[in-house]
Amino acid sequence: MPIPEPSVEMALHEALSVDLKPFNTFGLSCIAERVLTATAEDDVRDAVGTVAANEALSLVLGGGSNLLFTQERLTGTVLHINLLGKHVVSETDDAVVVEAAAGEPWHPFVLWTLENGWGGLENLSLIPGNVGTTPVQNVGAYGVETKDVCTEVRFVERGTGAVHTFSAADCAFGYRDSVFKGPWRNRAVITAVRFHLTKRNHTLKTHYGSVDAELEAAGIQPSPQSISDAVVRIRRSKLPDPAELGNSGSFFKNPTVSAEEYARLRALKSDAPGYPQADGRVKLAAGWLIEQAGWKGYRRGDAGVHAKQALVLVNYGRATGPEIWQLAQDVVADVHAKFGVSLEPEVNLVGGGL
Ligand SMILES: Cc1cc2nc3c(=O)[nH]c(=O)nc-3n(C[C@H](O)[C@H](O)[C@H](O)COP(=O)(O)OP(=O)(O)OC[C@H]3O[C@@H](n4cnc5c(N)ncnc54)[C@H](O)[C@@H]3O)c2cc1C
Repeated sequence: MPIPEPSVEMALHEALSVDLKPFNTFGLSCIAERVLTATAEDDVRDAVGTVAANEALSLVLGGGSNLLFTQERLTGTVLHINLLGKHVVSETDDAVVVEAAAGEPWHPFVLWTLENGWGGLENLSLIPGNVGTTPVQNVGAYGVETKDVCTEVRFVERGTGAVHTFSAADCAFGYRDSVFKGPWRNRAVITAVRFHLTKRNHTLKTHYGSVDAELEAAGIQPSPQSISDAVVRIRRSKLPDPAELGNSGSFFKNPTVSAEEYARLRALKSDAPGYPQADGRVKLAAGWLIEQAGWKGYRRGDAGVHAKQALVLVNYGRATGPEIWQLAQDVVADVHAKFGVSLEPEVNLVGGGL
């Protein structure tokens, strides 16, 4: 007797009425009407490949480390990306191209590349989330961004099920930005990402944050592994661990303003940091602005602004998504009233808000 083709329900794991609390680093409770878990690209095509299936989709969920649930219930379907696997695509004496499935957890993937002696991802150590989400906002830290190492992104087009492969140039990476936040927003489900890494003659970046100082203090020569270790130590000392204190990393983007707006801010606050950009605009430090407005360490119920890093909003345990979102909006309004600067969330709002 022929074995029947697996149905969508058999291939995709389905669960109803699921609390997403364990699936977001803010630790916020949000009851999802329906969750489908995809473990293969075909599952993703089954879940979003038709107009009807795509219209039912309310969220593509990776590691949940860059999300804020603004409501306590979510209707429709959540597609949880759990595609696993990683392998070498090609290599020379100098370099290697590796591919990882979208659901691979990012930091263990970085550690795997380092164990193999490959350089390129060390500065991006300890960032929470999945491999497949790194291209979405061009994840970056300590002078390196996804755009510096990513060569290809494979994704399923929502509504048609077509599979596309974009080069890094196609992805139009920018500061916390890419086509996946622009023209392809809510139209693509990333299934795999490729990275170009070095086997020797590594390009080491140590001049950002306190990486240099950390290496010097420990008397260690820069290498991909030692830079990773330094970045891990620095991040642990500065940022709250989501396992202990719910948070989503930097809640706001660093705003970019015109030179005139920056001059106006300097007239109010002569020590306001500003970083000139190639296009003549100036990038400001959102955390500094929030701190100057007096919000650092502020707590309202279980929602708060982190005591060490004002850019990070935190959940002390029982805060709800709407409470965190209200606090965020109050911070935005106050910073605008005091300094005339508009802050935008870096986190993705799920359930509406903007
Ligand atoms: C403590 C902490 C520190 C952080 N530090 C940094 C940092 O230094 N630099 C930095 O850039 N970020 C940082 N972040 C933010 C976050 O870790 C990254 O943005 C990460 O890439 C998010 O991955 P995720 O899988 O958790 O995404 P999720 O939170 O699950 O999703 C984020 C967005 O991407 C979409 N998405 C998820 N998976 C896919 C997919 N397969 N295809 C298409 N869309 C998808 C979601 O729908 C959502 O809109 C930090 C977060 C925390 C909690």
